[in-house]
Amino acid sequence: PFQRTYATVVEDKVAAFKGQKNSNGKYLVSLIEGDGIGPEISQSVKDIYKAASVPIDWEPIDVTPILKDGRTAIPDAAIESIQKNFIALKGPLATPVGKGHVSLNLTLRRTFNLFANVRPCKSIAGYKTPYDDVNTVLIRENTEGEYSGIEHVVVDGVVQSIKLITREASERVLRYAFQYAQDTGKTKVRVVHKATIMKMSDGLFLSTARDVAKDFPDIEFDAELLDNACLKITTDPAPYADKLLVMPNLYGDILSDMCAGLIGGLGLTPSGNIGDECSIFEAVHGSAPDIAGKGLANPTALLLSSIMMLRHMGLNEHATKIETAIFKTLADGKALTGDLGGKAKTHEYAQAIIDNL
Ligand code: NAD
Repeated sequence: PFQRTYATVVEDKVAAFKGQKNSNGKYLVSLIEGDGIGPEISQSVKDIYKAASVPIDWEPIDVTPILKDGRTAIPDAAIESIQKNFIALKGPLATPVGKGHVSLNLTLRRTFNLFANVRPCKSIAGYKTPYDDVNTVLIRENTEGEYSGIEHVVVDGVVQSIKLITREASERVLRYAFQYAQDTGKTKVRVVHKATIMKMSDGLFLSTARDVAKDFPDIEFDAELLDNACLKITTDPAPYADKLLVMPNLYGDILSDMCAGLIGGLGLTPSGNIGDECSIFEAVHGSAPDIAGKGLANPTALLLSSIMMLRHMGLNEHATKIETAIFKTLADGKALTGDLGGKAKTHEYAQAIIDNL
């Protein structure tokens, strides 16, 4: 199973997509609008795609959780839709804290074995932040580590959460990361870890990386401790522009939000959850209940996630056209949403992008 590279996965997908066009000659993409601001930002994506004549028909799916054999599960119709279409765009889903159903985001990643979470963070010209040269791409192992969901009470007042690292899942995400670096022009892959403390678990991730690196002689490989990486990136992000950072699950979750902070916040950062069979693209941010329903949300992160999706599908021209219009609108600065210091409503910002297409 590890012989399938990123490139062959994309080839397979593009070949498969050819069979997925509907009678209108368009690709079907499953759409999870999500909770909170999800429907508002999804509407912006739909409006902009329509105006840009992207050959996509959306198949809206309902992922209200169900209980199956005592476990939280995604409704069968939603699973079938994503399996049939291979690809989904997803708005944020709210997760109850400390009780209730397990995270649907986690359930989706597990259901479709979305093993790699790709999170790019690039400074946006025209939007002022302390640094204007951030260009990090981080790939996070997406299925295990501290998120393996193995937790139990040992005795009253003592709980244990298991961090699970396997060579199989590590190799899968590391191969993907090296291939991704090669395909996207990054010359170096750097593993971020804490193998000084977690000698066995992070140690296994690191030694697997050394093995995988041998198959990619053109890519430089090195490693950095997590705490050092945090310090260095926030002190001077420029040296990270030629590196692809790859790391176990929890570190990737935290470090990617830190990088998001450097470019202006969660409203701007996209991500892709990649599997061998299906891939789901989503913004890094959550459902923002504090601003939901008020027309204040910034749809950029979901839009940029959809651009990653278009490139994954091989629809590069449409991706570049919309991406250029987004960056022009942000650089103009006349129709920014509140989180970026502007006064525009979500639909006004979307209209400005449409005007720039
Ligand atoms: P959040 O990302 O929803 O919000 C954090 C802050 O950022 C809020 O002030 C919010 O208004 C702002 N913000 C986020 N996205 C924005 C946007 N597009 N435009 C403007 N402002 C934006 O994080 P939270 O409040 O910790 O979580 C809320 C819910 O979302 C929780 O239930 C959480 O579990 C869930 N969540 C889901 C995902 C996901 O679906 N992948 C990710 C993170 C959190």
